[in-house]
Amino acid sequence: MRYLVLTDIHANLEALDACLTDARARGYQQTLVLGDLVGYGADPNAVIERVRALKPAAMVRGNHDKVASGLEPPDGFNAVARSAAHWTFDALTGPNRAWLAALPAGPHTVDDLIEICHGSPFDEDAYIFDELDALRALKVSARTLCLFGHTHYPVTFQLSAETFDSTGPSTLAESRVDLRPGRKYLVNPGSVGQPRDGDPRAAYAIADTGAARVELYRLAYPIEEAAAKVVDAGLPEVLAQRLTVGR
Ligand code: ZN
Repeated sequence: MRYLVLTDIHANLEALDACLTDARARGYQQTLVLGDLVGYGADPNAVIERVRALKPAAMVRGNHDKVASGLEPPDGFNAVARSAAHWTFDALTGPNRAWLAALPAGPHTVDDLIEICHGSPFDEDAYIFDELDALRALKVSARTLCLFGHTHYPVTFQLSAETFDSTGPSTLAESRVDLRPGRKYLVNPGSVGQPRDGDPRAAYAIADTGAARVELYRLAYPIEEAAAKVVDAGLPEVLAQRLTVGR
């Protein structure tokens, strides 16, 4: 099975469409969505409708999905995220808001190989930043490959009986992680709609269970268009600026 893996789309329709076009050309059968479909970007309804049309095999909610759908108050959100969450709540149609609120919490077991979560397998809202967080997550994870998001930072951690390694973002448009026997993997493909690793290109992955590998892709998309929509929508301008720098 080839799974298209999308996380942290954040209502960026231009980035999502670029990823979908690229992924279709590469071929995949099913879609996995790791949360934060909305928040920050100007197209929450259109993004939800695109994702729903993909009929994902599995999805989990992100912290922005919970707040923007009214499920949780924006505690812990900074002023910009809070403002975007209010804007998104108002912009969402009733049915889309209800659909978002009904997304399941992670972690979620997809098949014999893969588990997905938004933040970490031990807490849907926890951030995996460093090796300590990653080790804890790898020990809790129920599958060989745990796919996560939330930090908007592409990274791979791998654990065997003898070794523990991490690999950060690649500058290449394509890179891959080969899943070797006897190891556990924790992979963040990076954010579709709001990258924060200094590379403004959209990020997504294809997890190929037959070939035992994760393919990681970065691609250019019409950033200026997405940024202009953010400004026109009356969202905080800093959200447009950060798209262009990938921070
Ligand atoms: Zn996010």
